Amino acid sequence: MACILLDVDGVLHVSGEPIPGAAEAVTLLRRQGHTLRFVTNNSTRLRTVLAEELRALGVELDEEEIQTTPRAAARELAGKRVFALVMAAIVPDLEGVDLVGHHADAVLLGGCDETLEPNQVFSYMNLGRAFEELQMGADFYCLHKNKWWQTSRGQMLDAGAFVAGLEYVTGIDATVLGKPSPAYLAAALDELDAEPELTWMVTDDVEADVRSAQLFGMRTALVRTGKFRPETLESSGLVPEIVLSSLAQFPDWLERVL
Ligand SMILES: [Mg+2]
Repeated sequence: MACILLDVDGVLHVSGEPIPGAAEAVTLLRRQGHTLRFVTNNSTRLRTVLAEELRALGVELDEEEIQTTPRAAARELAGKRVFALVMAAIVPDLEGVDLVGHHADAVLLGGCDETLEPNQVFSYMNLGRAFEELQMGADFYCLHKNKWWQTSRGQMLDAGAFVAGLEYVTGIDATVLGKPSPAYLAAALDELDAEPELTWMVTDDVEADVRSAQLFGMRTALVRTGKFRPETLESSGLVPEIVLSSLAQFPDWLERVL
């Protein structure tokens, strides 16, 4: 039996629209006896809410099976004074982190959503404050450094743009807490007690997920849904073990190769 890390956005749904056959594939993988973990860089919703939303799409799961970046941040930054530019909805998942406006030990940048909130969170004033804290010696963390994500309206600019902007002006590289950081994948493997060579990463993201999973010695399946673009796969120089039309094809394929 294998351990399977399932990316969420672009693999199970796009902007909340279910990808046909994805929920059934999750059920099938469980029936085949595999252990699942949902690995997401979603940085706009609480884990409980994510679990509810996935259940509403027909995906069977326990909340504990979802690994999110705000919880990775809470582990890493527990007890520290943190100036955080994140969506308000995820603040409860940062339990144990001391959120402050000045004299921070660390600056944390989070993700964007499709509402007007990123306008306020990443305002000139707030980015300027983050800049000042970094200049005064705060450590720099981000939930992820994604450039864009796929929505039903097309590509939307993600928070990686603001992370890169602050890196540019301060000369400080941010520590990435979500995918593709090794710490994030290591935590997922740890909790599953899994061997990388018996673990699959199923994702629509060749650059972030396939690259990092392969560095870990995991096996990779790329799906042609969500943010998948043939030219990105080509220019990446990466070769996933299999490229499938969608997650719906994965259980049958896995059954054949195991
Ligand atoms: Mg994805």
